[in-house]
Amino acid sequence: MPEKVIIIGSGPAAWAAAIYSARAALKPLVLEGAISEENRLAGTLPLGQLALTTEVENYPGFPCGDLTAYLASSLDEKKRQFMAPHNKEGVSGPELMELMRQQAVNFGTRVITEGVVDVDFSAKPFRLTATDGNTYESHAVIVATGARANYLGLPSEEQYKNRGVSACAVCDGALPRFRNKPLAVIGGGDSAVEEADYLTKFASVVYLVHRRHELRASKIMSQRAEANPKIEILWNRGLAEVLGSDKDGVTGVRLASTVGEPDLQKDVTGVFLAIGHTPNTAFLKGKLALTEKKYLKWTTPSRTYTSIEGVFAAGDVADDYYRQAVTAAGSGCMAALDAERWLAAKGL
Ligand code: NAP
Repeated sequence: MPEKVIIIGSGPAAWAAAIYSARAALKPLVLEGAISEENRLAGTLPLGQLALTTEVENYPGFPCGDLTAYLASSLDEKKRQFMAPHNKEGVSGPELMELMRQQAVNFGTRVITEGVVDVDFSAKPFRLTATDGNTYESHAVIVATGARANYLGLPSEEQYKNRGVSACAVCDGALPRFRNKPLAVIGGGDSAVEEADYLTKFASVVYLVHRRHELRASKIMSQRAEANPKIEILWNRGLAEVLGSDKDGVTGVRLASTVGEPDLQKDVTGVFLAIGHTPNTAFLKGKLALTEKKYLKWTTPSRTYTSIEGVFAAGDVADDYYRQAVTAAGSGCMAALDAERWLAAKGL
């Protein structure tokens, strides 16, 4: 028997879609992604990008306060063992994601910890092939696979990945090699500021390297960076080369000037890339219409329809503009309602 709806992904869009479709008695199946080294390196482990962040201060409903008892009563103790201790103020990204997943499960969502490597949308029911080789059939599909962090593509960056080069401060920042040492963060958006701010917990100094003379980050985040005595902003600079050795991993960076100044070299033991994201749509190439930037194309204004009837898209995989947890969750809800109405119209 085909499923009524399969949801691919496990960020806020996916769990919101699951909560709504479970409550609409569609018995959703979520393919949340595989736990693999490949996904760890790519930043695409289950629970998405929020699971790689720290405090979430802008998701409505979690004002600062002690959420310890709430978390204890919401999440299985076994899950909590593997999560960082609650910091007593607000909610963290990993906590928020576990809460959303739990809420979906509470309403009967079934979850499989595998990703999707191929889709056949050419016939109905649709057919999905998972990372473990199993195939799944479904009348409707909601794609909510999010996006992943970008790298610059420098050979030296590749050479020192996992040996001082990272795109996730929260995942790697506490490693001994970064303690009390100078570090560099590349980028000027909210992610770059957030990473730099987080890394000041461990580093002696964090160089925030930005290619222009104005941060892209929101005002409040920019002010935070400028007020942090451990953050030194290096304006009009780009990463030209990661310096290092086989023995020590990263030992420094060579920074090119974007305004014609000579190169600048800084000793650092870590380089954190925070230069934007790429949507996780590689497995959909040729199967669904994509935008120029390879995001899934929403084909109808204010709807989550894609180029194939019965396939819906939600969250960052289709949104290169808002890219917020709350907008992702909102579009996940919309996708579930769109899928529910489409299934009803088809008598499925
Ligand atoms: P972003 O806003 O797109 O910023 C990317 C930054 O990387 C920009 O400063 C950009 O420089 C720089 N960049 C891009 N390509 C580059 C290259 N090849 N070389 C050097 N620099 C490069 O991405 P983001 O910071 O990941 O944020 C994504 C979304 O998530 C945003 O909507 C943001 O508000 C949101 N977010 C929010 C929070 C929060 O509120 N706490 C935290 C993280 C992210 P230019 O400025 O010159 O283009």
